[in-house]
Amino acid sequence: MNHKGSPMKSIPSILSIPEKLNSFFQHVIKFRLPVERRFSVRDILLALGALLLTLLLRNISLPAAIQTVLSVFLLLFALIPVFLQAFRLIRKRRFPVEEATVFLSALIAFAVGEHTAAILIPALSVILWQVEGYSLLHVEAAPNAIPDAEETIRNHVMAADEEKSTERRTLAFASAAFYALLLLVGIIMMFLSLFHLQNAAEWIRRGLILLMLSLPSAILFSLMLTHFGAVFSSGKTGAVFRNDQVPEDFSHCRVFAFGKTGTVTDGRFQISEIVPVGVSEEDLLRIAAVAECKSDHPIALAIKSAAGLKEGAVPSGVMDVQEIPGKGVSTFFSGRQIYVGNASLLEDHNIWYQVPSKTGTAIHVAVDSTYRGYFLISDTLRENAFEALEELRAQGASCLAMLTGDVQSVSRAVAASLNFDMVKAHLTPAEKASAISYLRSSQSDRERIAAVGDGSHDEAMFEAADISVCMEQKPSGIADLSICSDDILTIPRVYRICRETERIMLASAVGVAGVKLMLCFLGLFHVIPISLVAVFDSVFGIVAVIYSLTCLTLENRGMHG
Ligand code: ADP
Ligand code: MG
Repeated sequence: MNHKGSPMKSIPSILSIPEKLNSFFQHVIKFRLPVERRFSVRDILLALGALLLTLLLRNISLPAAIQTVLSVFLLLFALIPVFLQAFRLIRKRRFPVEEATVFLSALIAFAVGEHTAAILIPALSVILWQVEGYSLLHVEAAPNAIPDAEETIRNHVMAADEEKSTERRTLAFASAAFYALLLLVGIIMMFLSLFHLQNAAEWIRRGLILLMLSLPSAILFSLMLTHFGAVFSSGKTGAVFRNDQVPEDFSHCRVFAFGKTGTVTDGRFQISEIVPVGVSEEDLLRIAAVAECKSDHPIALAIKSAAGLKEGAVPSGVMDVQEIPGKGVSTFFSGRQIYVGNASLLEDHNIWYQVPSKTGTAIHVAVDSTYRGYFLISDTLRENAFEALEELRAQGASCLAMLTGDVQSVSRAVAASLNFDMVKAHLTPAEKASAISYLRSSQSDRERIAAVGDGSHDEAMFEAADISVCMEQKPSGIADLSICSDDILTIPRVYRICRETERIMLASAVGVAGVKLMLCFLGLFHVIPISLVAVFDSVFGIVAVIYSLTCLTLENRGMHG
């Protein structure tokens, strides 16, 4: 099964609810998120003033009538920002669900004599909304803040904000369902009070607690912030995700399959030896360069540069150029068939070749079935390749494999010096893909497998893996994750960012939901007064939003070891 993140449009029905209900919840989530919650200084002062005066009022003894009159005034103060916010929403043709809930809760609390709670509910909600609005401001400012990044990166960051990954969508759905459930039960309880007239106040109180706790905005904002944090922090290290599902899937990768050439090596080949057979060294180089004229494989680039053939130049007389992935090229030039590539290319055409005496990657050349000699070439390891692999392991990777088309001897030496867990050499691109399927068979359903390549001849391997990581200068869109930086350490950096944001997302969503449940019980069983329920609920919401906001600067955090 391929887990590639295709943009899905509907919320996965975790409770296998009907499609209609599903789209209803999605609607609730959608219209909650883009809401702008930015209050003026006056609104904030009103809320804060009402909050402080209420606390003061509790601690001074005044005649009951005066207390009540003052409370009414404070309640009105606290409700003004909520009203204004609701009107702004209505003007934008959105129904102010949360504002209505807050308004209703405050009125009911006041009616049952919970004056302090009645004022705290709107005042604290305004403060929570303000924190959310502030974090939204960060998110909006963030794409412009990427220092001298390419336009493409910015566009990708913006585009990635539009969809949601499976887990985030599930969590958003769960919190919207939680909200709807609490709201429903709350309303039922209030309704029940009509039938329990001698105990009506208690039923209203119970309903009120559920109503207050039903507001889901803290969770929804945390989800948005953590997701955006993953995209944005990674963007700052020079990495771009293809879509919204990628950060989540990448965080579940435990097996990493790397290519060799151009991936863990720098791909800048040096020709260390030229062994011509029946031609001069210059002629051998020239023939090979002509045959490679259309290839941009790192080996082709090295041969062309050694022969002085300009990049992209196609000499006249070149007719038919075929790249044989993982083997080499076959070119028809001036009435002759030229083959340039590894031993297996010549074997395919039944051409005899000389086995080099020294170890190294040999590129053989044949013209019209006549062997013309070989080059020995080598490239050097990428700077920090060893550290990057160690860091991946420290972050939780369980298997690092090297899948390469190069010869056994060279591949083993490279794999040993980088401490790979396994190495498979002599692979064609199709064989790399089957090696990945084999690696996947040892994994659990949740775990993902990543293929890391330089992008040349890597399509099959990328297709077979769950997450494709391409070391390329510009995001081309073929890979799920484009590393637009020369630094291979960017891969473990992005991996850490993705894992961390997943952790933060779960911690804040589960944390807020847990606190809400706990407060629900504490309130229902009279362990704490309603006003404290309101205080704790808002404070934990604010903490969760601020905690999620830290995701925007994850790239700055140090790495292990
Ligand atoms: P890797 O798996 O290490 O990234 P590739 O699959 O790109 O390596 O290439 C595997 C082998 O195929 C190379 O080592 C080389 O022998 C041969 N090869 C591929 N493309 C070319 C080319 N354009 N010219 C010559 N040889 C090539
Ligand atoms: Mg390659």
